Amino acid sequence: MSQSPAIEISGLVKNYGAKAALAGIDLTVERGEIFALLGPNGAGKTTTVEILEGYRKASSGRVSVLGFDPATKGSAAQKWRNQIGIVLQSTNDSADLSVIETISHFANYYEKPRDVQQVIDEVGLREKVNAKARELSGGQRRRLDVALGIIGSPQLLFLDEPTTGFDPEARRSFWELIRTLQSEGTTILLTTHYLDEAQALADRVAVINDGKIIEIATPDTLGGRNNAPAKVLWLENGSTQELFSNNPTEEVMKLSKRFDGQIPELQVLRPNLEEIYLRMIGELK
Ligand code: ATP
Repeated sequence: MSQSPAIEISGLVKNYGAKAALAGIDLTVERGEIFALLGPNGAGKTTTVEILEGYRKASSGRVSVLGFDPATKGSAAQKWRNQIGIVLQSTNDSADLSVIETISHFANYYEKPRDVQQVIDEVGLREKVNAKARELSGGQRRRLDVALGIIGSPQLLFLDEPTTGFDPEARRSFWELIRTLQSEGTTILLTTHYLDEAQALADRVAVINDGKIIEIATPDTLGGRNNAPAKVLWLENGSTQELFSNNPTEEVMKLSKRFDGQIPELQVLRPNLEEIYLRMIGELK
């Protein structure tokens, strides 16, 4: 079992009535990888993730999660569930328990829970340890969700839009936590609408649109990004000039000669992941 990839999906189809929410998905996530699913609203990300978690049934296709079919029921399913951690898009249960009570309560469900205090520190809730869940801000509530996802020392962690509502500092410390989990061997499947988050965290990303995978690649090579021409910008005659080039160094050298040194307000830009992604899903020409 330890030889199998963390996740294997082939020919996955999910129909809601006449609508195909997933129209045949093929995907493999290796153990230890951070893999991000990107796609616009309604693309099929949550449907995919919830089938992998065993919360929805596939219409057809094959799915294996830690070597196990998530649609299986019974005691084997319970053992399997112990090895996965889940952070759903939104939760609002146990609002009357404190942070520490909620996390301690969840820790009891697992065979090998992480240390409760350590998890509280890792998600940055030390100051709110005795606050009730309903007294937390949106971003703090989200950190509690993440704590509940990782308390069971999962081999595989599902994160559905985990940093929605986080301030920039909280997002960065969350990224650190995810990198730490990866260094400890955890596999992570992430859905996010933040392209900087995918860029910062993911080993590979899959862009999904209309129930189909458009491309699977590393963030740096998606959509031919590494080979895309660079944009060179500078100020001349009172306005910003721009050109696109496959050899921006050469262009900069030419400009430098022309200006006899300093090029006013020089910038050399490569398309970022967001631009490439928006082009891929047809939102940017
Ligand atoms: P978002 O980014 O908005 O969370 P998503 O990529 O997670 O979107 P899904 O929630 O997987 O998208 O939805 C995919 C498609 O399936 C959408 O068209 C949605 O309307 C439809 N859908 C999802 N759940 C159901 C359901 N229970 N019954 C009918 N249609 C559904």
